[in-house]
Amino acid sequence: MLREELIFVGNCDIAGHVRGKGFPARELRARKKQGIGWTHSNLMQTAFGPILDTPFGTGGDLMVVPDMSAEARVDFADGTVPEHFILGDIRNTDGSPWECCPREFLRRAIAALDAASGLHLIAAFEQEFIYTGVEDRPGHAYSLGAWRRQGGFGESLIAAFRAAGLKPDSFLPEFGQRQYEFTITPEPALKAADQAVIARELVRATAFRLGHRANFSPMPVADGSGNGVHIHFSLHDASGAPETYDADGPLGLSEPAVQFCAGVLHHLPAITAITAPSPVSYLRLTPNRWAPTEIDIRKQDRGAALRVCPVFDVKGKKKIAEAYNIEFRVSDGSANPYMALGALIFTGADGIARKLSLPKHSGEAPPLPRSLGEALDGMEKSEAVQAWFGPTFLEAYLRHKRSELGYIAGLEPPELCARYAEVY
Ligand code: GLU
Ligand code: MG
Repeated sequence: MLREELIFVGNCDIAGHVRGKGFPARELRARKKQGIGWTHSNLMQTAFGPILDTPFGTGGDLMVVPDMSAEARVDFADGTVPEHFILGDIRNTDGSPWECCPREFLRRAIAALDAASGLHLIAAFEQEFIYTGVEDRPGHAYSLGAWRRQGGFGESLIAAFRAAGLKPDSFLPEFGQRQYEFTITPEPALKAADQAVIARELVRATAFRLGHRANFSPMPVADGSGNGVHIHFSLHDASGAPETYDADGPLGLSEPAVQFCAGVLHHLPAITAITAPSPVSYLRLTPNRWAPTEIDIRKQDRGAALRVCPVFDVKGKKKIAEAYNIEFRVSDGSANPYMALGALIFTGADGIARKLSLPKHSGEAPPLPRSLGEALDGMEKSEAVQAWFGPTFLEAYLRHKRSELGYIAGLEPPELCARYAEVY
C-alpha cells in the first residue's frame, strides 16, 4: 500500500491528554517554526472530550510549536506505521509563550528555583498502569507468573523507550492485578517531564500494537490497587554536584533539601488539585493502599507524601550523596507531568526562598485533601498558587476541573472508576 510518513505535534493539556495535529513528515522544516494551529479553548477539553466550560469562547488562535528535543520516532518493525510525535509549546501567534502553556509553567518553576537558590532539580518518574493483555488473576502481586504472562510486551516497550532516546531503569509486575510499572532514569526537570509524557504514550503505543491497552487511571477499579506516578527528585548545584544529602541533617537532608521539602509540605493542600487532579485520585489517596493520606515526610516509608528514599550503596559518602533522592507520592496518571513537577518545584523554591523548616507534629500529621472539590478550594485560595499561575491560567484550570466534577456528579465509586478507566 502506498504510504507517506506523517508526524503528530501535540501538547499535554490540563486533562493530562496529549492532543495536537498531524502533517506530512516532509513539511517538518517549515513546521518547526510555525507549528500547528491551535485555539485557546482546546486547553479546556476535559478528560472525557467535551469542553464543558471555557473562559475563552470560540475565538483566538495559537500555535503548538514542536521542540525537537521532545521528539519520539519509534518503528515497531511489525508492519504498523512508525509512532512519530513531537511535543511542543503553546505559543501566541507572535511566537511568545502562551501564559496557559503547561510546559511553560514548568519552565517558570525551574526559573523560580534557580532564582531562589541557584539549584537545579533532577527528576525521575515512576509510573504504574494496568496492561490489559494479561488475564486478571488474583494472588500474583510482584510474581514471576505476572511477569511471564505479559510476554513480549515489556521487551517491546523497553526497545521503544530506547528508540525514542529514553533510558529505561526498570520494568516490573506491581502489586495490583494486571498492574505493571516502569521508571525512566533521572534527567533535568524539563526533560524528565517530556520523557514522562513520551514514555506514557509509548506504553499506550506498545499495548495498542499488541491489540491491548494500558490504563493509567489513578484508581481503575474501586477497591482495587491505585496507579501512582511517583516523582523522584534531587537537587544539584550549577556544576551538577549533588546538594540533597547531609549525613548530619534531619532525615539525612541538606539544608536546601529540608527547606525545599518544607515548602512542598506547606503548600501541599494548595497543589494537590494539580498533582492528583481527578475525582478518582481521591479514592487512591486512602489508607492501606501504599499511597499517602497525610501531609508528611518520612524516611523510607511508602505511605508518606514525601519519602526519603534508601540508598543501596556502601561505597562511601560521595556515592550516597550522588544517589540521595526524595520521592513525591501524591501524584498520579491523571496529572499533567509538566504541571505536577512544576507545582512541586514552585513549592520547593518557595520553601528555600522563605527558609522554611520541616513541620513538627505531635501525633498525626494533617490530612491531605479528601476530594477534588476540597483540593480545588485549597488551590483557589492560595496566594502563592495565584502568583505561580497568573489569573487567566488559574481561572481556566479551576473551571476545567469544576466543570468535570459537575459532569460526573452523583456517580458512585464503581461507575466513577469505570468512567475514568475508559479515558486514562
Ligand atoms: N500503587 C501505589 C500507589 O498508588 C504504590 C505502590 C508502590 O509503593 O510502588 O501509589
Ligand atoms: Mg510502584
